[in-house]
Amino acid sequence: MGLVVQKYGGSSVADAEGIKRVAKRIVEAKKNGNQVVVVVSAMGDTTDELIDLAGQVSPMPAGREFDMLLTAGERISMALLAMAIKNLGHEAQSFTGSQAGVITDSVHNKARIIDVTPGRIRTALDEGNIAIVAGFQGVSQDKKDITTLGRGGSDTTAVALAAALDAEVCEIYTDVDGVFTADPRVVKKARKMDWISFEDMLELASSGSKVLLHRCVEYARRYNIPIHVRSSFSGLQGTWVSSEPLVQKTQQQGEQKVEQAIISGVAHDTSEAKITVVGVPDKPGEAASIFRTIADAEINLDMVVQNVSAASTGLTDISFTLPKTEGRKAIDALERNKHGIGFDSLRYDDQIGKISLVGAGMKTNPGVTASFFEALSDAGVNIELISTSEIRISVVTRADDVPEAVRAVHTAFGLDSDSDEAVVYGGTGR
Ligand code: ADP
Ligand code: ASP
Ligand code: MG
Repeated sequence: MGLVVQKYGGSSVADAEGIKRVAKRIVEAKKNGNQVVVVVSAMGDTTDELIDLAGQVSPMPAGREFDMLLTAGERISMALLAMAIKNLGHEAQSFTGSQAGVITDSVHNKARIIDVTPGRIRTALDEGNIAIVAGFQGVSQDKKDITTLGRGGSDTTAVALAAALDAEVCEIYTDVDGVFTADPRVVKKARKMDWISFEDMLELASSGSKVLLHRCVEYARRYNIPIHVRSSFSGLQGTWVSSEPLVQKTQQQGEQKVEQAIISGVAHDTSEAKITVVGVPDKPGEAASIFRTIADAEINLDMVVQNVSAASTGLTDISFTLPKTEGRKAIDALERNKHGIGFDSLRYDDQIGKISLVGAGMKTNPGVTASFFEALSDAGVNIELISTSEIRISVVTRADDVPEAVRAVHTAFGLDSDSDEAVVYGGTGR
């Protein structure tokens, strides 16, 4: 008997109808002879609504109580899903992250999974149950406090359980048919990929393609767990994310490996802000003390750019991007250390967006960078920051320019599909 882990995102369980629909799918998987573990997210936009609510009682909610609040969303959906499955005549038991053995560090709001001890899940399965686990949450190893894994963290719960239970596959059910060459909400002509490598998926995810969370892909790569991203609203095959190319059967050529694309896709992200530290003395140790301050505040940075210093003043500016949600914390930390670091002022800009082109073929195909910048220039998009890796080029632009820029780059690299428009089945895209 195979063991499958299925994860259903918030848009798939947005209301009672959605929960009943998903329950039927889960029961099908069980009837096909599998042991089934289900990871479920909070219904619809529940997590966002809880965050808004917290903001109404406290200006900067964070930490322990915030996690306690947010995990309530997944508790609601796990219990309802178990009830709906029982109503279909099958046994199901729901478990919180803590009960399922998801052990994390104690960094509230973005904890890392450090161990998974799914003893209770195994017992529930052995007794013939479908096990339903609340995604996005765990319990800290030292303080035994409830933690959350960061937005979109249910994906990580699913892969971590799949690894711990030695599952054959981790299926991620969402509101689109798979991983596309761009967000189908922005590019109607985006194409669904049959397969994408862990490496390219990792870059897309960390560049903002929220269809999968980058930590989840990281985890899957480390434990070599194939992920199948697909829609809970259709019966279509989705996208396989794995180390080895997928083998497909075609009538003409028999079995064939899906080829690695030169360019996998275009990602965008409007969840970041830019901080510019103005008037930093251009001498060794300055950047170090700025970024030590940020690191001590447990904030993750994305891009970093240092401008050339003006010879007359010996001062320079350093800009970096970070999640908007960390903006206040970063500004406060830098202000507190202003004298130690030595800078004139800080500038904060949250009207930025990032566009990234991703593909392993970039390494060996000259001209990709030039075509990327030409596409942006033809679309009249001004570039503020640039960063590259071996298989990715990213630029920061005005947030308003992002949709147009994504479409322009998508077309320029021949990624537009000539068939059906990409379907978005549900969700608000929030
Ligand atoms: P869930 O609620 O199932 O976790 P998410 O909203 O987190 O769903 O992720 C699915 C969404 O990811 C899609 O609705 C789509 O708008 C967005 N998305 C961004 N980039 C991509 C991409 N390259 N392929 C598919 N979906 C993408
Ligand atoms: N409910 C959480 C969120 O909205 C976790 C998840 O959906 O993966 O971020
Ligand atoms: Mg998600």
